[in-house]
Amino acid sequence: MTDRSRLTVLSGPSGVGKSTVVAHMRKAHPEVWLSVSATTRHPRPGERHGTHYYFVGDEEFDKLVANGELLEWAEFAGNRYGTPRLPVVERLEAGEPVLLEIDLQGARLVRESMPDARLVFLAPPSWEELVRRLTGRGTEAPEVVERRLAVARTELAAETEFDVTLVNTSVEEVSAELLALIR
Ligand code: 5GP
Repeated sequence: MTDRSRLTVLSGPSGVGKSTVVAHMRKAHPEVWLSVSATTRHPRPGERHGTHYYFVGDEEFDKLVANGELLEWAEFAGNRYGTPRLPVVERLEAGEPVLLEIDLQGARLVRESMPDARLVFLAPPSWEELVRRLTGRGTEAPEVVERRLAVARTELAAETEFDVTLVNTSVEEVSAELLALIR
């Protein structure tokens, strides 16, 4: 039997700092296993294939979907992102904790297929702070930022669907809270 209660899903609006929080936590606790997603997005500077994402083309992503190899997948700001199913299922079957860091659509899909999963919503301290973070990354074209802000506006309202909310006031505090939830 797969122990799905060991599955923690961290989600929240783009730019809220999900990946920063996870990176901070895993620096101190590299033993915390994080699923590596497949994406059709192009790598940003410094991102490595197999570490940050599996960067795949559209055809390869189509194949992953057709073969049922993704636990969930979603389109976000013009690119597709998905969680490879097998590594997650294997970990859960071994009774090991699993952490997913995915968008809200993906979190909803996981809730459907694995109702015991714990869904954690990472909220920004304020809307102004979220706008600042989304526009401040500086790696995205203005129209991409605009699209992400529009998505983020609707995503903030989804907090009520989650089991736990963590407010990202300080990366140290929130990563300690996340670690406590996973363990
Ligand atoms: P970014 O392009 O900034 O790395 O990620 C964009 C969004 O996609 C973020 O909200 C991130 O959490 C989400 N994401 C990353 N991997 C996955 C995945 O496997 N599935 C889903 N549904 N979303 C993902």
